[in-house]
Amino acid sequence: MFSKGPSRSLVALIAGITVVPLVTLLWLGRRLMEEDRVLEHQQIQQRVERGADLVVAALQRLVGVSEQRLAAGSQQWPDDAVAVTFRDGVVEASPRDHVAYLPLVPQLREASVATFAHGEDLEFRQRDLKAAISVFGDLARSPDPSIRSGALLRLARSLHNAGRDESALAAYAQLSEIDGVSVGRVPTGLLATYARGKLLERQQRASELRALGADLDRDLHSQRWMLTAPVYWLYGADAAKWSGRDSTAPRQAEVFADAVGALWDRWSSTRPTAQASSGRESLEARGQTLTVLWQSSNRSFHALIVTPAFVESQWLTALAPIVKEQHIALALPNAERQSALGASEAPAAPRATRTTAETALPWNVVTTNVDPPPEDRDFSRRRQSLIAGFVLLVSMALMASYLIIRAVSRELAVARLQSDFVAAVSHEFRTPLTALRQFTDMLREHPALDDDRRRIAYDAQSRATERLTRLVESLLDFGRMEAGARRYRFEPRDGTELVGRVVEDFRSEASATGHEVEFRGNGSALIDADDEALSRAVRNLLDNAVKYSPEPSPVEVGLERRNGQVFISVHDYGIGIPAHERADIFAKFHRGEHAAIKGIKGTGIGLAMVDEIVRAHHGRVDVDSEPGKGSTFTIVLPAKS
Ligand code: ADP
Repeated sequence: MFSKGPSRSLVALIAGITVVPLVTLLWLGRRLMEEDRVLEHQQIQQRVERGADLVVAALQRLVGVSEQRLAAGSQQWPDDAVAVTFRDGVVEASPRDHVAYLPLVPQLREASVATFAHGEDLEFRQRDLKAAISVFGDLARSPDPSIRSGALLRLARSLHNAGRDESALAAYAQLSEIDGVSVGRVPTGLLATYARGKLLERQQRASELRALGADLDRDLHSQRWMLTAPVYWLYGADAAKWSGRDSTAPRQAEVFADAVGALWDRWSSTRPTAQASSGRESLEARGQTLTVLWQSSNRSFHALIVTPAFVESQWLTALAPIVKEQHIALALPNAERQSALGASEAPAAPRATRTTAETALPWNVVTTNVDPPPEDRDFSRRRQSLIAGFVLLVSMALMASYLIIRAVSRELAVARLQSDFVAAVSHEFRTPLTALRQFTDMLREHPALDDDRRRIAYDAQSRATERLTRLVESLLDFGRMEAGARRYRFEPRDGTELVGRVVEDFRSEASATGHEVEFRGNGSALIDADDEALSRAVRNLLDNAVKYSPEPSPVEVGLERRNGQVFISVHDYGIGIPAHERADIFAKFHRGEHAAIKGIKGTGIGLAMVDEIVRAHHGRVDVDSEPGKGSTFTIVLPAKS
């Protein structure tokens, strides 16, 4: 009943005092963290910018070295690059087989058509194939390769028309071995191989055709003959078909060839007015982004054309230490597949961009931060300690408020208990005092009272005085116990005799309220006891047994000696004690709920004293109770043998 919490306003006040600094603390902490993050971001941005500058400088140096090699006319280029030179009517590629076709090819030797006029006359006009075959056969033995090749071509044609396909094929085979001459500006070797293929195709000789197709495809691609784009594609389409190769995916030499063509067109058209100049650029050819370094004048044009793989292996790889050291990822965005070095970037990662306009490099250079950045370690460590600090502060503040609230509640509860105690004590005094006054008044106002009535009045006065005396003694005793000044004088006593005496003294008082007190003891039970203190303890239990049994009912007192212990029990048939209260009733000033509800007077110190006295006797008090049925309090003391 006294354990109500502190008032709401007090809790609100304490909470306010705690909450305001707490909120301020949290707000400050948040701001601190935000500023820390901004700082971290700035540092990362600085590193990424520095990385971009270092990368650009390194790329300038690397590209510069390649440009110097180009200017010096180097022929040594890796697979993923080709150097081209344009001069008056000349286009050269190095290595030659890196370019599938050229915008301009040298004119090959070619025999005049007049040489074959007689044979062709026989073949077409006179339709004398036999004679024509003989004429072309003679010419095919000429030491001049241009005449020999022109004759073999016509011989094969006539043989085919004469139905002698095997001989025609042999003539084509012989012809395909001759290089350096052309017929109708197409190299004769190419013409012969192609004509053989057509023948095999017509004869449906599939396996031979596939083998021939593969050879032709390889020869075309490796620039066995120097070809222009139209010738290359004209024959190349059939060669790919015969060999069964998928011709939709462009080959590197074709990509280079297209780039060379585009550069040639540009140089040829700007050449008349061209100043000596140089440049670096990205160029799209057949879906591939190539990088071009060029030096140009109106007399010549040199260019180095490289693939993304070259950029990667020759230039970007050399940047790996910078990328690693600066903890960045590098991308060259307008060179798509020429791009990445380092790990993939986070979406909102700090980045630095250097554009082509700023750097004169062929690509934009973009550097981004790679997670986790090195700064992260310092910052996250700092943030962790910050968070830990805040958590500590907040928990300390919470703990402090909890302790304050608890201490204040306790103080308030004690103050309340004490004021209740004072009220209860005053109440306890009032009853005997009222009786005393009434009977004293009666005796004074009625001097002629008969003897019987007079005795009743004296008895009542005596009982009231006795009650007052006990009350005062009890309070004094409690005061001494509280101050720790209570001294016990232990002497060997017979417990049965002691308890019997207390019961006897109490009986008349109990009978006034209609309670019978029975005492059952079985023989003497020796104990070490302070007579006065133990009597008070038993007396208190008897008082309670009567007080908390509103209806007249018996009170049974028992004493038993068992197993070296003496059990003094007081059993009543009163209101009983709810289970949840049993642990508290021995605390000083504590009063049960029912005691208050039923208006049973008391000070809340009776059982506290019993407990204290029994403990001093090295014993304990047990309670057994059933609400509505009654209670048994048992004092257990060590028996003296
Ligand atoms: P008080 O009797 O003055 O209130 P006590 O310390 O003697 O103080 O008792 C504490 C509480 O224990 C009482 O308020 C009452 O609720 C409960 N109590 C003690 N003895 C009994 C009993 N015999 N029957 C029922 N309740 C009891």
